[in-house]
Amino acid sequence: VLILAIETSCDETAAAVVKNGREVLSNTIYTQIKLHTMFGGVVPEIASRKHIEKINIVIETALKEADVTLEDIDAIAVTYGPGLVGALLVGVAEAKALAYAAKKPLVGVHHIEGHISANYIEHKELEPPFLCMVASGGHSHLVLVKGYGEYEIIGRTRDDAAGEAFDKVARAIGLGYPGGPKIDKLAKEGNKKAIAFPRAKITDAPDDFSFSGLKSAVLNYLNQCQMKGEEVNRADVAASFQQSVTDVLTEHTVGAAKRLGINKVAIAGGVASNSSLRAQMEEACRKNGIEFYHPSPIFCTDNAAMIGVAGYYEYIKGIRDGWDLNAKPNLKIGER
Ligand code: ATP
Ligand code: MG
Ligand code: FE
Repeated sequence: VLILAIETSCDETAAAVVKNGREVLSNTIYTQIKLHTMFGGVVPEIASRKHIEKINIVIETALKEADVTLEDIDAIAVTYGPGLVGALLVGVAEAKALAYAAKKPLVGVHHIEGHISANYIEHKELEPPFLCMVASGGHSHLVLVKGYGEYEIIGRTRDDAAGEAFDKVARAIGLGYPGGPKIDKLAKEGNKKAIAFPRAKITDAPDDFSFSGLKSAVLNYLNQCQMKGEEVNRADVAASFQQSVTDVLTEHTVGAAKRLGINKVAIAGGVASNSSLRAQMEEACRKNGIEFYHPSPIFCTDNAAMIGVAGYYEYIKGIRDGWDLNAKPNLKIGER
């Protein structure tokens, strides 16, 4: 079964061809990062416009690299939520047009279910049930994957997403957008024990996250340094902040897995490409006899291959969408 997948939920225009849900034949990504950098973040109108400009060539490239034509494709999968409504609409309209013209079935995919499904690409043996920690630009969730396409949310952030905290802290120390990779790099030169930033726990909800207090603590620290006229060691701030996020994400995930009696843990989303998080998760899982899974960095951040994988498992269940498929900016995990 060949799936052509399309992803335009944020600032990556992406298309991919995926075979039998596990084999990526092509994975084309046009990233708009450079375009948004000068504004310090994603500008929705610019993102939509660029998607329109790039979508056709990105799809053509994906088909060409996979050495297939639209005729060979069994179904078209597309991200229809959550994300920026104008950005999502470009992908959804394109998918509908292609599916209609080529008489192919259409399958709408949840973006975060895509992120989770990225784990199936390089771990051919991975099957549900497993626990997945999703940390991206807009989400921080602990999700129990009970079966293919069957999800239960175990915990979620009460305020900021982990990636959002990375982006805001990066901006505060002058690293620019997107902050995650830049903090990851700078932290390697810093002392992770230099500054004691908080590690938030929510008393009655051990699986929930909170990152806004940590972000405020970093901003307060920077302000205090400025008032005292002390120079800020940005590498130390980056390393100490990153360590706080890493500790919280690792402890919550391993804690939940043990309590649920789950011995398989996966990570997903842009923050899952963080080197400190990957190392610490790996170590914590090993110590607790838990099998650890993670996608390569290219499948952690936004891509269409992950949408093709999630779309495949929907497709073989018989899930189809009609020509009324619409963008749903606030789509919830497990909903249609
Ligand atoms: P969502 O998936 O929630 O809709 P998104 O699609 O914008 O949001 P992703 O593309 O999954 O998010 O991930 C982008 C986020 O990941 C950004 O916040 C970015 O800073 C963060 N990120 C990317 N690489 C790293 C890294 N090495 N370390 C930490 N964070 C990272
Ligand atoms: Mg992005
Ligand atoms: Fe994403």
